[in-house]
Amino acid sequence: MSDNFDVIVIGGGPAGYPAAIRAAQNRLTVACIDGWQNRDGSTAFGGTCLNAGCIPSKALLESSELLHRAQHEFAAHGVKAEGIGIDVAQMQKRKASIVKGMTGGILSLLKAAGVTALAGHGRLLPGRKVEYTGTDGAKRTLQAKHVVLASGSEPMPLRGVDFDGKSIVDSWGALEFEAVPKRLCVIGAGVIGLELGSVWRRLGAETVVLEALGQFLPMADGAVAKEAQRHFKKLGLDIRLGAKVSAAKLAKDGVHLTYADAKGEQTLVADRVVVAIGRRPYTKDLLAEGTGVVLDGKGFIQVDDHCLTGAENVWAVGDCVRGPMLAHKGKEEGVAVADRIAGLYAHVNYRVVPSVIYTAPEIAWVGQTEEQAKAGGRSVKVGSFPFAASGRAKAMEAGAGFCKVVADAGSDEILGVHVIGPMAGELIAEAVLAMEYSASSEDLQRTIHAHPTLSEALHEAALAADKRAIDIPNR
Ligand code: FAD
Ligand code: NAD
Repeated sequence: MSDNFDVIVIGGGPAGYPAAIRAAQNRLTVACIDGWQNRDGSTAFGGTCLNAGCIPSKALLESSELLHRAQHEFAAHGVKAEGIGIDVAQMQKRKASIVKGMTGGILSLLKAAGVTALAGHGRLLPGRKVEYTGTDGAKRTLQAKHVVLASGSEPMPLRGVDFDGKSIVDSWGALEFEAVPKRLCVIGAGVIGLELGSVWRRLGAETVVLEALGQFLPMADGAVAKEAQRHFKKLGLDIRLGAKVSAAKLAKDGVHLTYADAKGEQTLVADRVVVAIGRRPYTKDLLAEGTGVVLDGKGFIQVDDHCLTGAENVWAVGDCVRGPMLAHKGKEEGVAVADRIAGLYAHVNYRVVPSVIYTAPEIAWVGQTEEQAKAGGRSVKVGSFPFAASGRAKAMEAGAGFCKVVADAGSDEILGVHVIGPMAGELIAEAVLAMEYSASSEDLQRTIHAHPTLSEALHEAALAADKRAIDIPNR
């Protein structure tokens, strides 16, 4: 193997591996170094997303939602099923096999593209040299014309609530429970807290979610957050806002948590505690002295609008740089950087990065919330359409939630789209495409949507913005 490459990518997660593949497609010689280690010591490409994030969490969300629907919806359909329950070992086996297949798939993709995939640690040295330490501990110094840093992120710890890997765990630990905890406490009502809290709640855990902020889902549109809170309450998620956790003590009967809320100091005993208070960039042992790469005050690698660091031909993408910590954001950055390295045009439109929370009902949005648009001085018009009025949603027994379109009252440009309801994460793609092309609400109104589909709800919401909806009274 040569020690010289056009491009070396450090990190093989959803930001790094697409950068490597696109660079190889651009006829550059590429190595991709990834240091992910599973708890059994095995290595795997795919980063947090495939090994301990997006994919395993969605596998468990699907299994637990199936159980929940069987228990709560089958009767309405007239489907008779007895003795329905969960086999946690089988659920986990299925999840593990999906993860294994997907991570193996990344390795095959890298190989098929002609990328040299190296399991082990990469450390940037000055002059675009990279020290590679293999899984056997052997070190080699590689040289690149360009280096792409894609080292990702890690869970944020909470002072006073130390991870012990068993009773107090991070999101990875919460994906690995081998039995349904009787009493579960999740700290943080963010995306992870709601998704993983939903999984274990649906499987039967008494679940309390402690959230430091007084507002629920502040990043979502206000109407969506309100609707979501109502449904999570119905599911039995006990979400306590304004709850600041200060300490955890392990005892025989469980973890004793101390937190303060508006009423004063409170205690809570749980069998398992999941800390999900956010993630922070991971750059441990990534940068030697004198590389010229600079970290900001929060530990993110500083980059310009094109993902270029302060060091010549050293780029950084994904969770380790500013912007939302989302797999698809990292992927677009990785691909864009690989194209820029090859001298091609590339652009990442940060204004239209979709967000999805894979709960039931599912939540998705793109662009500005109604509150943000108004706070930014825009005069807006808003159209909403409830899934309760959608024939397809009713047929699916999924009439909860709505689609909401926020458009500029003057120009009619779509500023944001917010969906809470069935397949929200799929429905939002149409809105993303519309906004990518700076569509107006009239563009959506004049687009034919198949009947009966969930997408008609988005169509009708766009019509409602001009009080021209057909399937609901216009107010
Ligand atoms: P990572 O995926 O973290 O990959 C970085 C890789 O680099 C890792 O394999 C790491 O081991 C390796 N590495 C780091 N340093 C070195 C080094 N020095 N040498 C060699 N290798 C190194 N996002 C979504 O968009 N949708 C979701 O549904 C979603 N669900 C999630 C669920 C959970 C439970 C979690 C925790 C996260 C979820 N995310 C989701 C976030 C998503 O996982 C991240 O945004 C995404 O993985 C970031 O990609 P990345 O490539 O930047 O970093
Ligand atoms: P988050 O930022 O979504 O939520 C963390 C929550 O914890 C916030 O509501 C915050 O106010 C709260 N919090 C912070 N400190 C606290 C404390 N001391 N006590 C109680 N609450 C506290 O972070 P996350 O849920 O850990 O997820 C991390 C990242 O992973 C997110 O940025 C997200 O982008 C990504 N992710 C995405 C998906 C998805 O796209 N579906 C799923 C999971 C994770």
